[in-house]
Amino acid sequence: MTFDPFATYSEQPLWRAEMTLPEVPPAEVEPREDVMVVGSGFSGLHTALHLARGGRKVVVLDAEEIGHGCSTRNGGQVSSEIKPDLEGLTARHGATKALAILRTGIEAHRHLRQFVAEEGIACNYSVCGHFVGAHREDRLKGLEAFGALQRKIGTEAEMVPADRVRDYIASPQFCGGLHLPDWASVHPGRLLAELVRLCLAEGVRFVPRCRASAIEDQGDHMSLMAGTRRVRADHLVMGTDGYTDSASRWMRRRIVSLASVVMATETMDKSLVSQLYPRASMVYDTRLNVTYHRPSPDGDRVVMGTVVPVDTNNLRACLPRARDNMLRVFPQLAEVPLAHVWSGWVGATFSHLPHVGVKGRMGYAIGYNGTGVAMTSYLGRALARKMLGQPGGETGVDGVELETRPFFHGQTWYRRPVLALHDIKDRMPSRGATIG
Ligand SMILES: Cc1cc2nc3c(=O)[nH]c(=O)nc-3n(C[C@H](O)[C@H](O)[C@H](O)COP(=O)(O)OP(=O)(O)OC[C@H]3O[C@@H](n4cnc5c(N)ncnc54)[C@H](O)[C@@H]3O)c2cc1C
Repeated sequence: MTFDPFATYSEQPLWRAEMTLPEVPPAEVEPREDVMVVGSGFSGLHTALHLARGGRKVVVLDAEEIGHGCSTRNGGQVSSEIKPDLEGLTARHGATKALAILRTGIEAHRHLRQFVAEEGIACNYSVCGHFVGAHREDRLKGLEAFGALQRKIGTEAEMVPADRVRDYIASPQFCGGLHLPDWASVHPGRLLAELVRLCLAEGVRFVPRCRASAIEDQGDHMSLMAGTRRVRADHLVMGTDGYTDSASRWMRRRIVSLASVVMATETMDKSLVSQLYPRASMVYDTRLNVTYHRPSPDGDRVVMGTVVPVDTNNLRACLPRARDNMLRVFPQLAEVPLAHVWSGWVGATFSHLPHVGVKGRMGYAIGYNGTGVAMTSYLGRALARKMLGQPGGETGVDGVELETRPFFHGQTWYRRPVLALHDIKDRMPSRGATIG
């Protein structure tokens, strides 16, 4: 019989299977509310927590289960990465603002580290370092430039020659790489459960399986539908990232959702996992259609995410290509079954930057472009401080316009051609000193 790695997998994300949510008392949305937070992921929870601590009465809505979105679907990689490079940011925003934007990533990671320590959060936070592997030799130049930029803004970064790649990863696919020793990892599900616990302790109410729609700023209040109930709220927070729907038409025109597929192997002998990842580093590569992976926090599985240029609304259709990507990294996993396979929507923006701001009576922390685990904590607190009128809510990304494009209304037809184009570019020589 031929081996089928997908014979018995579950579509529940590993992180959800391993997290224990506290008991959440049943609650209803009232016709009049103080602050409605839409989205129960990291953004919504961090914002809700700080608003509640600032004296506001907060209710968190989610169209699905609590934590349904990418906060329990991501790779758990904690970095200070901001996607655009210094040159591009300087051309658009000037040199001073460009550096401030890039340093936002460092502030965000520092904030998450401090938050986890001060609140005693059990989420397997570990400064394990990240290894970025070059999938082609011509990508090394881009990695060198990226490393130099990281050092300039205050993060350690060291090039790894081909003959030392095995110190970080037992994979045949990389011809060198970059090591970022300050970058870290978490168990995203455990982090989310702890945030829910902290919010409950501050009196935040949760209403899961209740979709917000028809969100409008009426000047002196926000109006919306919460399920079938019309609600008038003093303020509203959008924490919907890649799951942004048409509830707010303004926001739908500004967030582009891109899918990523994540696979977790069955449990394996821990010594085998540590042979694959000798330093337990987080790993990703220089592809536009990136593959990112790690040992699980318990050290007994490989967890690997990948972007594949096939029908991302159909998880089954993605599986063969996702599995090929996994074996390209680790041929050693050819006979290892997959226990969990899931997908999630990454929220991207036209600026490639995360955004935080207050527009009338609506606050938002959104558009993390795939690096939101640390940034959500920082922008969530910043947003709450802005809404409370407290000092310390300023960030390096303040004032950057959350842009749209003519004719963009949240359409999704572009996904397959864009990913297919990225696939072609990944096979071609690099056009400059960029990572991808
Ligand atoms: C597969 C994948 C891998 C990733 N890996 C990493 C990584 O390794 N490191 C990293 O830093 N970042 C990573 N990210 C990005 C990171 O997970 C996100 O940036 C972060 O979790 C965003 O959190 P959030 O709270 O803003 O949004 P989410 O956690 O997505 O929450 C949004 C919520 O809004 C709800 N919602 C949407 N519309 C409505 C509505 N109308 N009414 C009510 N509720 C609504 C959704 O149901 C959802 O629960 C990854 C993302 C994905 C998808």
